[in-house]
Amino acid sequence: MRLYDTARGEVVPFEVGEIVTMYTCGITPYDATHVGHAATYLTYDILQRRLRDLGHATRCVRNITDVDDDLLRKARELDVHYLDLAAAETARFDADMEALNVIESFAEPRATSAIADIRGFIGMVMDRGHAYESGGAVYFSVGSFPDFGQVSHHDRATMLELAAQHGGNPDDPNKRDPLDFVLWQPSAPGEPSWDSLWGPGRPGWHIECSALAMRELGTTIDLHGGGADLIFPHHECETAQSEAATGERFVRHWMHQAMVRMDGEKMSKSLGNLVFVSDLLAQWDPRAVRLAMVVHHYRTPWDWTDDLMDVATARLDRWMAACSDESARDSATAVAAVAPRSMTTSTPRRRWPPSTQRCPVASRWPRRRPCWACSAPVSRFAEPGQGVVNRWV
Ligand code: ZN
Repeated sequence: MRLYDTARGEVVPFEVGEIVTMYTCGITPYDATHVGHAATYLTYDILQRRLRDLGHATRCVRNITDVDDDLLRKARELDVHYLDLAAAETARFDADMEALNVIESFAEPRATSAIADIRGFIGMVMDRGHAYESGGAVYFSVGSFPDFGQVSHHDRATMLELAAQHGGNPDDPNKRDPLDFVLWQPSAPGEPSWDSLWGPGRPGWHIECSALAMRELGTTIDLHGGGADLIFPHHECETAQSEAATGERFVRHWMHQAMVRMDGEKMSKSLGNLVFVSDLLAQWDPRAVRLAMVVHHYRTPWDWTDDLMDVATARLDRWMAACSDESARDSATAVAAVAPRSMTTSTPRRRWPPSTQRCPVASRWPRRRPCWACSAPVSRFAEPGQGVVNRWV
């Protein structure tokens, strides 16, 4: 197999062993899944299916960022515990992925399940002289790592501009260099906080993925993915801190999904132009929703338009007719013969239409607390500091 590698900037052989380890940056569970999310995870779903057809086993980890500025703000607005909000939105995300027939993740670890791992990881970075304490926080020292820029290849001015756009806070007076980024930060009043050697606080954005990738898959992973908007700063910073901590290569191959746009603009919450997967699933066959997204090349940005679902539905109908029509038996036989094995051995699809389903939050957890979305009783994720290591506890 040959794949485009973001860091090398060209199509190169994708050389892997029997087991292929993959890590894709997951969701921050504070709002519903939009088609940009779905397009990303469908891309790695298709890659895994192709690898499995070739005889490989795939282990794809997708994290859940359940402690984050946006999540905490939304929980305050709704007046719910942030872990209740995270649990509810994660369940909605899982239901969307299941409806789209996305292969289940090898692991879906939550950031708050990894606080001990993160503290240990920061210690490794500090021991090797690549991080420093300042103002109650711990920062990665970009100047101590000559390979910073090996993934994105941006010049310093571009890095500063992108860091400012993505919450990097280049003007933070506690930093030695504006490009330095936070590994551990003091919590604001009312925010969740964990004890650490550097004072109470919570992890920075990037450190979670480095710690979870190493915990779940080891020091070096075959392929790392995510949306193209994560190349800088997120993936650049992940690489720097991981390689600084271990002294070994972090990722063999970088694969990024292009942005999905609406009317030529990036689909984003701030612009209010999101198309939610759950809204599409309420109206259309999930197989058609999947088709509408996977017809686009993963490295080419594309626009969501109203006619996409009509086109995908017509295509699905043609395929279904070809497979069911007695007079087209030869075609159906041919389709069955060329269909990837993983398509014919996938897990059972959930029931359709979705109106027959119960709230995924209420149906998954034992009865303890009300779901903020549907008022049915559920239990919440474990509280911070309980030292949990598994996802559902
Ligand atoms: Zn990540």
